[in-house]
Amino acid sequence: MNVPTEPMNSGAACPRRSTRSVVVGGVQVGGGAPVVVQSMTNTDTADHISTAIQVAQLARAGSELVRITVNNDEAAKAVPRIAEQLAKMNVSVPLIGDFHYNGHKLLGENPACAAVLAKLRINPGNVGQGAKRDTQFAQIIEIACRFDKPVRIGVNWGSLDQSILARIMDDNAKRAEPRDAGFVMREAMVTSALESAARAEEYGLGRDRIILSCKVSSVQDLIAIYRDLATRSDYPLHLGLTEAGMGSKGIVASTAALAVLLQEGIGDTIRVSLTPEPGASRTQEVVVAQEILQTMGLRAFTPMVTACPGCGRTTSTFFQELAQRIQNHVREQMPVWRDRFDGVENLTLAVMGCVVNGPGESKHANIGISLPGTGESPAAPVFVDGQKTVTLRGDNIAAEFQAIVDDYVASHYTRKQS
Ligand code: SF4
Repeated sequence: MNVPTEPMNSGAACPRRSTRSVVVGGVQVGGGAPVVVQSMTNTDTADHISTAIQVAQLARAGSELVRITVNNDEAAKAVPRIAEQLAKMNVSVPLIGDFHYNGHKLLGENPACAAVLAKLRINPGNVGQGAKRDTQFAQIIEIACRFDKPVRIGVNWGSLDQSILARIMDDNAKRAEPRDAGFVMREAMVTSALESAARAEEYGLGRDRIILSCKVSSVQDLIAIYRDLATRSDYPLHLGLTEAGMGSKGIVASTAALAVLLQEGIGDTIRVSLTPEPGASRTQEVVVAQEILQTMGLRAFTPMVTACPGCGRTTSTFFQELAQRIQNHVREQMPVWRDRFDGVENLTLAVMGCVVNGPGESKHANIGISLPGTGESPAAPVFVDGQKTVTLRGDNIAAEFQAIVDDYVASHYTRKQS
């Protein structure tokens, strides 16, 4: 296993555990490539306009792969139209089709859908029951081979193959010292993924066309399962805590699980499965996935703003508002900056509340501002690459600081050739 001893600094290729790679619509997953961020839509796929709009939002937020559910004939027929609509919107991102129960039928009856998708995701627990399971699994693999598409074999504990679970339980009962129910569940999940991958290879799918995942909603179980999976196979691994939940709970649980595994070099692509707050943007899951990778030093996506938490030394909310304004500004600018300026994602910013740590922290950033705390003179020194350059005063500090950031970006990062 190739385990990095310390975090890497940028988007440069970093060692991952999987030496094998799978190319998904031009995006390399595994084989030493940077960990890939992916997301999933929650629109009705049959509504091709709404789905294309959300795919575009996710892609513009930085999702490098986007999964859409393909749950019925209308959805399957909409997939090529979604791709056409995205082309009209000048959005290029590989689409992954998510299939349960009827994937063999939908893909068989809608070859245009299979042709457009960059990858198929199938769940071995939902491919079919009894004798139909193997036949239907074989049909999907045959279609993947015919259209030369990679497949993610995505096991989920909510839909675990019951025949495998029963077999592992029987085997466990015969042990001299049977293991607990948690072990049986984890073993059944890993077994389901590995046996399905072996069967897919028997049916002709190339080893370089298979990605595995085994998702659960418990942090400790997820860590244990992926450690086991990484030891027992060399397929690229898709990481994600399934049904992570809403708000801070979902973010914290996903981060806790993924950070441990990523730090051990396990995981080649990630998705953060957040339940959006009502009316909130679906793109939050992309932002969180990027921030996990960036704060760990594994990749860089967007300039990061360091801000102090505030305390009794600063009674105004001005520095909080400035930190938020600058963070929002750089994230909004990134789709444009990414295309124009090489390396801008590595820019670091600091917005600090008072003189205690303000100047020091600001000097560590490319651009930092130390705002006046309670009782301090109303002046905000700005530091650029460690040097104090100007002191801002008055009512326009926010706009002037934002302009300094914009000028720095334009003058310090190489313009990409168009
Ligand atoms: S920098 Fe100043 S305002 Fe911010 S937390 Fe530290 S002491 Fe408090």
